[in-house]
Amino acid sequence: MTSDAVGTSSSCVPLTLPVLVENEDNYLIAQWLVAEGEEIEQGELVVSIETAKARQDLEAPATGVLHAQVPAGAEVEAGTAVAMVSPSGRCAVCSAVR
Ligand SMILES: [Zn+2]
Repeated sequence: MTSDAVGTSSSCVPLTLPVLVENEDNYLIAQWLVAEGEEIEQGELVVSIETAKARQDLEAPATGVLHAQVPAGAEVEAGTAVAMVSPSGRCAVCSAVR
């Protein structure tokens, strides 16, 4: 379920939580490695995910401003966009979610 229905210019790139462990669909957002609203580069590690087996860091899908969509400590289902990266600077839509 993406939130593209908002209708504002959306060049923002979602950071989607992949399936990290087979037969496990829910993971814990252990820690944000980058603060909300900070600029990140593609490939930079932005968030630590805790699975039943190990911790795994996710890379930024694009260069831009990070807008976290889920707070640390939350359980999230694989396939969820845990963050949006806005290449053209701060995005009012994506930064308002949290
Ligand atoms: Zn946006």
